[in-house]
Amino acid sequence: MKKFLFLFIILFFSKQAFCDENINPDLPTVAIVTTGGTIAEVIDPKTGAVVPAEGGEFFKGIPLLYKVANIKHVPFSNIDSSQMTPEMWANLSKAVDEVLKDSKVVGAVVAHGTDTMAEGSYFLDLTLKSKKPVVVTGAMRSASDPYPDGPFNLLNSVYQVLSKNALDWGVTINMNQYILSSRDAEKTHTTNPQTFSSGEKGYLGYVFNGEVFRFNDRLYKQRFPVPEKMANVDIFFDYAGAGPEALKFMVDNGADGIVIESLGAGNVNSAVYEGIQYALKKNVIIVLTSSVPYGGVFPIYGDVGGGASLAKEGVIFSRHLRGPKARLLLMVAMANVGKDRNKLEAIFANP
Ligand code: ASP
Repeated sequence: MKKFLFLFIILFFSKQAFCDENINPDLPTVAIVTTGGTIAEVIDPKTGAVVPAEGGEFFKGIPLLYKVANIKHVPFSNIDSSQMTPEMWANLSKAVDEVLKDSKVVGAVVAHGTDTMAEGSYFLDLTLKSKKPVVVTGAMRSASDPYPDGPFNLLNSVYQVLSKNALDWGVTINMNQYILSSRDAEKTHTTNPQTFSSGEKGYLGYVFNGEVFRFNDRLYKQRFPVPEKMANVDIFFDYAGAGPEALKFMVDNGADGIVIESLGAGNVNSAVYEGIQYALKKNVIIVLTSSVPYGGVFPIYGDVGGGASLAKEGVIFSRHLRGPKARLLLMVAMANVGKDRNKLEAIFANP
């Protein structure tokens, strides 16, 4: 019994030391929530491939970090972000809210793989309760790279959390000195550190020498409770010559909603139009997005499968939201308002 008590005390105090490093009473405390991704990955000497590093405490040796803030480490996961799921982001959202309840913690930096960073940060933006600043960051070069970008991105994210110039943006991405809205940001390059862009919407700000320069405000502010059960939503990618089979399969396989990545300003061919009609008849919610990066979808064309004909059928237009994020919004929104088309349309009209 005594042995167990001793072990418990050791574990309890080692956990505390693990979470709160180098406490300096003059510095604010920032939580670093680690989920994995290239920022926490190293080259496996046996295979030469990049894999998650043990422990995920890659931030420990970052110059300046501990001069700027006390760090509270929340190890959430240690995985490549290609393995992330909406259910995991729901748990991540709860974990971030939990650490932000601590009155000493002024904000959080979430370290996340870049492959699904745009979606993960948008999910947090839709569901976090706390109003404290939350910044998502990562890296394009692993911790084994001679010139890793992760330490710089992480330090800049901590600067952002601490800056008065960076308030009221909701959850943002901070990569390569740029600050981006979670809703608009997209990964645009597979290997270059300057990969995240919001295209025509622009950057929110920029970090240089520890200072945040504010370029834009962020006007979208919808927050929902974290769903206990996520709606089943698929994405159908349209292309010239596409048939309705995959769409019908999604419907017959129990989809509650389907996001269509359509052509141009919101058009599909007549076969896909037939698949959409099939889905709507079975009470499946259809949300229309475009495979074109900029411009959004609108009911312009009146021929079979044109945007105007889809609008008449009851398809919801995502406006400017791209496919994977429209899927997340639909999953979270349906968990809260069910299949109420008018409410869903209102949510997408102001995402
Ligand atoms: N495959 C990595 C990930 O998303 C890429 C990165 O983090 O940059 O986890």
